[in-house]
Amino acid sequence: MAKASFITPLLDLVFPPRCPLCGDALAQQGGLCAACWMKLAVPGEPACSTCQRPLGDSIVRAGALQCAPCMADPPRHAGIAAATLYNDTSRELVLAFKRGKRIALADLLARLMRSRLPELEGEWLVVPVPLHRWRLWERGFNQSALLAQRIARAVNQPLVVDALERRKRTPSLGGLGKRARAEALRGAIVANQRRAAQLKGANVLLVDDVMTSGATTDACLAALRKAGAGQVRIACFARVLDEALDHAGPDTAALAA
Ligand SMILES: [Zn+2]
Ligand SMILES: [Zn+2]
Repeated sequence: MAKASFITPLLDLVFPPRCPLCGDALAQQGGLCAACWMKLAVPGEPACSTCQRPLGDSIVRAGALQCAPCMADPPRHAGIAAATLYNDTSRELVLAFKRGKRIALADLLARLMRSRLPELEGEWLVVPVPLHRWRLWERGFNQSALLAQRIARAVNQPLVVDALERRKRTPSLGGLGKRARAEALRGAIVANQRRAAQLKGANVLLVDDVMTSGATTDACLAALRKAGAGQVRIACFARVLDEALDHAGPDTAALAA
């Protein structure tokens, strides 16, 4: 604490705090300007109790607060916590982080994700969605691992960065239907054998940067289930709702890569 507050003024002198999206001056490092904050779509209430999908007022009846997709096909996860709904602003932030390699943004994104997480009772292993090692080599970092690391620290839970492995380099899932996405991911994500003992019976907080169709997180869920994990919750920074997916086009495909 003391160290951070000592360093901040020096940092501000060299790099005056700027909004990472629009470049406006800020009072302090590590945030967004008020105008950019306003443009982020934070999932509001009422929302599905399972996946936090915003519900229209008309759908809400006392008691059952579940969205139609969750009722029709009960998900295998124990909940999704999304910091934002995917829009131009969250997209820009993720692109600056991933493509622009502005790794410092991981702090901000993880803080927003943390704020949406429910209280975790008992032990939860924090596990990032894995990248294929070629992709890791290209980019130099796994963005989900950077987020997972910060979230694990904030919620005081163990980080298991290599619990899942991506064996197969999957093509872009954009434009594929649900079945084709699942097919493209078949066998792509597996649990790390060396983590078998740790995963068995463990609750897992799965961390993803952008959750698009859910095909990737489904593949992770399947691998975790096969490894004998208990409950799995999903935390993501930006969530593309299915309704938006059809219109989102190739951009979201690139984002999910
Ligand atoms: Zn701004
Ligand atoms: Zn739902």
